[in-house]
Formats: sequence, structure tokens, C-alpha cells
Amino acid sequence: MQLNYNKLDERFIDELNKKISKVEDTIEELLKIKNKTYDNFFDVMEHLLDDIEKYSFPLQIEISTNITDLGKKTYEEYIPIMNEFSSKLSQNEEVAKSIIKIYETEDLNDVRKRILEKQILSFKSSGIGLDQESKEKIKSINLELAKLGNDFSQNVTDATNEYELIIEDEKVLSEFSELDKKSAEIEDGKWKFTLHGPSLTTFLKYCNDRTLREQLYKASATKAPQNEELIEKILSLRDEKAKILGYENYRELSIASKTASNALEVIDFLTELGKEALPKATEEIEELKAFAKEKLGYEDLEIYDYSYLSRKLKEIKYNFDPSEVKPYFEKNKVVSGMFQFLDNIFNLKAKQINDAKLWNDKALVFELERNGVLLGNLIMDLETNENKRGGAWADSWITSYTKDGVRVPATGIIVCNFPPSKDGVPSLLDHSDVVTLFHEMGHALHLITSKTKDISASGFNGTEWDVVEYPSQWLQEFANNKEIIKTFGIHYETGEVISDELIEKMLDSLNYGQGYGNNRQVEFGLFDLMIYDDTYSKEQVQEKLDEVRNMVSVIKTPSYNKFQCSFSHIFAGGYGAGYYSYKWAEVLSADSYTEMTKNNKIDKELANNFFDNLLSLGGSVNMKESFVNVHKRQPDPKALLKLTGIL
Ligand SMILES: [Zn+2]
Repeated sequence: MQLNYNKLDERFIDELNKKISKVEDTIEELLKIKNKTYDNFFDVMEHLLDDIEKYSFPLQIEISTNITDLGKKTYEEYIPIMNEFSSKLSQNEEVAKSIIKIYETEDLNDVRKRILEKQILSFKSSGIGLDQESKEKIKSINLELAKLGNDFSQNVTDATNEYELIIEDEKVLSEFSELDKKSAEIEDGKWKFTLHGPSLTTFLKYCNDRTLREQLYKASATKAPQNEELIEKILSLRDEKAKILGYENYRELSIASKTASNALEVIDFLTELGKEALPKATEEIEELKAFAKEKLGYEDLEIYDYSYLSRKLKEIKYNFDPSEVKPYFEKNKVVSGMFQFLDNIFNLKAKQINDAKLWNDKALVFELERNGVLLGNLIMDLETNENKRGGAWADSWITSYTKDGVRVPATGIIVCNFPPSKDGVPSLLDHSDVVTLFHEMGHALHLITSKTKDISASGFNGTEWDVVEYPSQWLQEFANNKEIIKTFGIHYETGEVISDELIEKMLDSLNYGQGYGNNRQVEFGLFDLMIYDDTYSKEQVQEKLDEVRNMVSVIKTPSYNKFQCSFSHIFAGGYGAGYYSYKWAEVLSADSYTEMTKNNKIDKELANNFFDNLLSLGGSVNMKESFVNVHKRQPDPKALLKLTGIL
């Protein structure tokens, strides 16, 4: 299968504008059809939109994977054009009416019914069906919210960029690795630390000076205090919007498009999860307190001590240094080991293609086929370079669909920031990198193996936000499976297979702190739901946060902490009343994984049942219902607690 990647060029925006006006003209023409059907109206429209997405793929690459100046410049022009286009379409009464009529009159199969129900719900959220005044109101609230969200994250970014801590006393860095020290060094004898994620976490983990740890922690926890005002406005506008749209409050509006039934169900779920993990979390903190007292003479444990102390305790308790496993995880071996595993269990074969021309010569391309049928292409751009955004992600280039009985294969990409191979030393991964690779592969499988005929429910399309991480977190669990690790854990110089003892040490140390970590996530998730049942002032928002902390937190948070002011996920990103999704999906993935690997043996039959009746159904069904279909029972939150060693 040929891949045709064309770099972005200067004409991109002109072409985009032409394409958009052509789409708008075509939609006008489609609206004239007398007997509109799913096929002659909705499906045609969806493919037009998909074409624009495919056309924009090089731009997506050039703002994330292979960042270019042209990409950045083009993106600034692209965003308002696309916002205008999609907001016009989502408020188009004629289009909405036509789709509602198709839904009400045509004899549709379940998948198409589901697709249209989601579409109608999304029209409803844009104000379709309301009187003109309310529609205008929704439009202006959306604009205002977009601006507030933007200001919120800009304030966080500015505050993050403004602060720096300069260290001149090398002694306080004595526990740092040479590499970490080097990347913080600004001149001879001076090191700079900032509030950016990697710098902050490294400092809190390795700096042996308690006062300095508090200094940096405090700077981070008091960032962007002006955002408190914005939170108040955001909450009030979200509430107003939800009520105009006929919802009780914003959290019900948010959850209406997810697999959870309502906010109370999620609050119960999180509360229970927090309660169940509380004894373990408390036990972990007690152990840490005793350790801190014995080794360092600390009378009490503060939140800014947690990373430092837990790292030290782990090193002593498990005698495990994460860099020990690195020589065993050579990137190419891990990739082929992962494919070997997928082949053994699912008969899924990956064949490397060598002649594809892409944005990066180091990117690997594979054709995936199962039981002899080609499913699609997978592009892996795994090594870090200076033109790449940080983190890891999976994305779609081509989403599959079936037309006239012929399936168009999918193409997906996985992007990571693994250490680069250099001077004869291959790319060697941390165990957490291996987990990341499996995680992204889970997303890629969800996309590429999709057998859904309709493009609107194929791959990621139509998948509810709170279960998107189900396939990825499910596959990532296999990266913690001893037998699987042994298949690719081969020393890059000696060829020796990683020992059982080293794997066990590594996995035991991974489980340390899970109770505490679980309850931190529960705290964020609960807070993100409890601020919507009324309109709260900034003081009341703080009270809500304190209330949640009293329920699930095991370390006292200092009163100066204004964490909410940098919680961009929920106030500036798409996670408003949806932060729970991480834990929600994790319960499903942990439960599926556990049952599939009972008695230390992979149950191939169940695994393939999962593959055929859940993973490869894309967004055509509610994955929480698919869970019940595959496992013949409801998911059990205890599976997650057991898998992470909490219970
Ligand atoms: Zn993910």
C-alpha cells in the first residue's frame, strides 16, 4: 500500500479555503435532495469533512511531530478558519433538521442509529432547536468561554516561564544524575530550575535540601493566582450554557456525551475508589514518615517531601535503579518483541515497508495484517529530536471505511520521544518508555483494526471520551507482564536475557506509591465534578477542594496551595467534568487484562474475543457495553485496585 506524504507548502491556506467553500457549496446542493437518506446525504457530508481532515494531516505533523516555521505560521491562520467553518455547520438548522428526519424515518441499523444520535446530541449542544435569542446567547457564551480558557492557560504558561531558581551550591544537587545535572547547568557552577514539568519533578525528586524543595513547590502551587477570578467566570458561564440547553448543570451536559449515565454515578464510583485505596495510601505515608524520621530526623512529612522521600525509600527497599534495565530495552528489539506478542496472541502480523517517503527518515513503517487480510499501515516515529513536541501520542492519518464492499485500509501514527540512537549506541529505553510504546500501540490498534463500515464510527470516531483510553491502557498492561518482557528484554551488548529477579524488583518498585497516586487522581476527578452542582464563588471553590481533600487525601496540603489555578485540563482543556475518564477507563482495562491473564497464562480465546468484539469495533458501540458483552458481567473496580497492588 502506497503512502503519499506531501510536505506543507505556502499554498496550504488558499487550497483549504477553496476546499471549504467547495464543501459548503456541496452541502447546499445536498440540501436540495428531496429524499435524503443516510447514504445520499449524511455519509456524503461526513466524507467531505474527512477529506478536509486528511488534507490537514501534513499541518498536524508540522506543528507537533516535525515542527516547522511554516507549520506554526500556517496553524495560526488555520485555527480561526476551521472554527468559523465548524461553528457555522454545527448551527446549520437545515442540516440538523435533515439529519433528524433521516433518523426518524429511515430504517437504520444500530450503528447508524448510534452515529446519528450522537450527531443530534452535538447539534443540541450547539443550540439547534432553540429560539434565535438563546442560540445567539450560546454562541456568545462559547466565544467567551474560549477566550477565558485561552487566558487561563496563557496565565499558567506565563507564570511557568517567569520563574527560575538558580542554584550555586553544588552540594544540594549531590543526588542528581550527571545527565540531569548537565541539562540544568547554565554556566560553570550555576544550575537553573524552572516550573516546567521535567525540571520541577526532577528537582523535587533529587534535591536533598528541604527548604529549596519547598521554595520550588510553593512557586508552582501558587502559580497564576489571577486565575481564581477566571474560574468563577468559567463556572458561571458553563452553568448558564447548560441551563439554556436544558440540562440541570454543566456536569450533566458534559456526561451526556460519555458512557457514564450521570454525574452521581461517577461521584459514587470515585468516592468508592478513594475509600478502598485509603488504607493502603495511609499505610504508604506512615511508612514514609517513619523512614523520614529515621533517616533524616524529620518530625513530619510535608507534601514537597513526597517525591524525594519516596524515591529514596524505593531505592533502599527494592534496591532497584531504573537505569539498570535500560541496556535490556533496545528500541528495535522492543518493537519487534511487541509485534511478536501481537502475532502470537492475535495472529496479527507486521511487515516492515522500506521505501515509504515520510517527514523523517528514521520513522518506521509497517503493514499490519490479520489472518491474511491487510488492515492498514502503522507509522512509528519514535526517537526524540529538536523539532518534535514533547510527550507521546497516537493519531490517525487515514480512517478506514467500507464502500461497495471494499474496505479502505487505515493509516495510523505513533509518535514518541525515545532517546536517539547515536554513535553506534542504539536507542535504549526506560521501562516507562516501553509502557508508553504499548500504550500508544493500543490506540493505534483501535484505529487500524477497525472493521466498522461507516467512517463516522470507525477507529476513534464516535468513541466516547471516557473510554478512549481503554484500549491503550489495556495493551500497556502487557508491558508489565514478566513473560512478555522476557521476549524482548535482551541486553544489547551481551545478548543476555533480563533475569526474573531484575524484572520482579522493577515491578515491585512500580507498585510502590499506588495508593497515594490513586487518591491524588481521585481527588482531581472528584473536585472536577463537585464544583458544578451550584454556581460557586472562588472561596466556595476552595472549600469544595478542601472538602474533597479531607475525604481522600493522605498528606496535608499547605493552605497557600492554589492548585486549581493551574488545572488547565479542566478549565482550559477539554476535560471539564471529564477528568474522571482516566480512572473510569482504567477500571475497564485493568479488569479485561486481569481476566485475560489469569493463572499467569494468556487466555487466547478471551483475548481474541476482546479483539473481535470490542477493540476492532472502533466507535460503533459503547465500549462499556462491549465489556459486558465480552466478559459476560459488569466491570469491577476492585480489579484495578488488585492489579496495582492496592488491595
Ligand atoms: Zn492515551
